[in-house]
Amino acid sequence: MYTITKEVYFCYGHRLMNHGGKCRHLHGHSVKASVSIQQASLNEQSMVCDFSDIKDCVESFVDTYLDHNFLLHKDDPLIPMLTDANERFMVLDEHPTAEVLSKMIFKHFAVIRF
Ligand SMILES: [Zn+2]
Repeated sequence: MYTITKEVYFCYGHRLMNHGGKCRHLHGHSVKASVSIQQASLNEQSMVCDFSDIKDCVESFVDTYLDHNFLLHKDDPLIPMLTDANERFMVLDEHPTAEVLSKMIFKHFAVIRF
């Protein structure tokens, strides 16, 4: 089994409305997403896949949806105010935890064949 990993760094803002601690307040993070691709065998170029394909795929997704964006749960009362202020944000059906962001990136990759 062969595994390669590409790391991508980005920043985002969020809050966790029902969190009992300080994460219920507006705040931001600088994070690293590690995307690993695993194959049972190498391709005709002796690669799991081309690193540049992973880089292009994850960076385009992160740049479009996550980097320097503000992620909010669909019931967050800030949404109308941010809309009126013409601020960039994205509404999620789930609370915008690191796990949910990981799931979003995973789902993006799940439909791609390397
Ligand atoms: Zn946070």
